[in-house]
Amino acid sequence: MTILVVEDEIKITRFIKKGLEMEHYTVDTAYDGEEALDKIEINDYDLIILDIMLPKINGIEVCAKVREKKIEAPIIMLTAKDTVDDRIKGLDAGADDYLVKPFAFGELLARIRALLRREKTTKATKLKVGDLVLDPATHEVFRGDKEIELSSKEYRLLDYMMRRPGNVCTRTMIGEHIWGYNFNDDSNVIDVYISYLRKKIDTGFNKKLIHTIRDVGYKIQYKSRPINR
Ligand code: CA
Repeated sequence: MTILVVEDEIKITRFIKKGLEMEHYTVDTAYDGEEALDKIEINDYDLIILDIMLPKINGIEVCAKVREKKIEAPIIMLTAKDTVDDRIKGLDAGADDYLVKPFAFGELLARIRALLRREKTTKATKLKVGDLVLDPATHEVFRGDKEIELSSKEYRLLDYMMRRPGNVCTRTMIGEHIWGYNFNDDSNVIDVYISYLRKKIDTGFNKKLIHTIRDVGYKIQYKSRPINR
């Protein structure tokens, strides 16, 4: 499950991001309306948390534009004060829910779960690559009949790659999405986590699913013929 948090107050963004990551969500961030729209167009988010007061393009306009583009991801609006006016504008623009700041984090989580549950009934959410299955609703991962236990970072890394089967995930993409924008590209942390994932997912199986693209990154793919890597 990938959630986009759009909020220009860095403290609040960090707080939400950290909290959601503890719950195994993958979190992307945007700090103004323009950046948000760019990212929403490129990426496939499961849910968007959208502040109303934003630089460049405000949250209500962002929401309206997202819906114009027929992007159906649920949107939770954040409002600074509980003015009926903002709430109505937000809901009219196509938001699904709203929260008044300051809010209890548990309440945000409950709203997210409710919206994602609603989504789940309309679309199948299980990710599959060959016989590897990841269920974002339950966070269960199976390779064939074998259940695989993953740490929070391993889970998010796998979720990220399984949403892009057959496509190269560069170190930068992985770093920014899993470790955030302060990611230090010189470290070998990604390679270390990939090796953990390989041990859990590929070791003992004939078909390897995680492939190294030398000097670039990794991809997850099920191929019926062997790969020379
Ligand atoms: Ca704001």
